[in-house]
Amino acid sequence: MRTEFILEAIEAVNNALLNSEAELESLDREIGDGDHFINLKRGCAALLAMHDELAPLPPADALQRIGMKLLSTIGGASGPLFATFFTTLAKVEKAGNISSLTEIAAAFSASVEAIKQRGKAGAGEKTMLDTLIPVAETFGRLTAANAAPVEIFDAIQQAAEAGMLSTRDMIATKGRAAFLGERAIGHIDPGARSSQIIIHTIADLAKQQIG
Ligand code: ADP
Ligand code: MG
Repeated sequence: MRTEFILEAIEAVNNALLNSEAELESLDREIGDGDHFINLKRGCAALLAMHDELAPLPPADALQRIGMKLLSTIGGASGPLFATFFTTLAKVEKAGNISSLTEIAAAFSASVEAIKQRGKAGAGEKTMLDTLIPVAETFGRLTAANAAPVEIFDAIQQAAEAGMLSTRDMIATKGRAAFLGERAIGHIDPGARSSQIIIHTIADLAKQQIG
């Protein structure tokens, strides 16, 4: 992993989320409390402000600081979960450089596993995990099969979108939406959508860099 790529990804993700303000806000207003976009915007702004501090750091240290910053800025239910994702990535990177796509896939999978444990949630509960779990599964399967990088990133984007859309028909059993019971049906989960936007954006960036 390269710190430079992490910084580019932060900028691209910030732009993509800002472009989805109205949509993310209304998704969380429908089945939550309406603050999901503003939580993410605050987190992104804090990370952008850390650019010069992060740039000289080895990737493991940069990822660790990103996780700690997200923990203290995003708030809500999603803050600690996004934070856990990054501190787990940091741990894996520290243990031995993540470089091949196979290693990136394994690190991603470990970080999604950490989110599951932290939030005591799994697939089918109408959360960000319904985007992240299929992505981890697809990423692992295609790297194991030695698929071409572009094919892998395309498949990841498709898995993220399908996972995000699958939350529309689910009842929530975790998070605020769980209070709504059947009334949550028909609405996409805001965290599933924001995670899908983030993954789509980073996969696009990775594809550009392959050429
Ligand atoms: P809050 O729900 O506290 O207002 P946010 O609006 O920032 O926090 O985030 C809401 C999102 O967090 C939900 O859409 C869902 O995807 C995610 N979420 C909530 N609880 C969990 C959990 N236990 N596991 C995974 N994701 C969760
Ligand atoms: Mg909310």
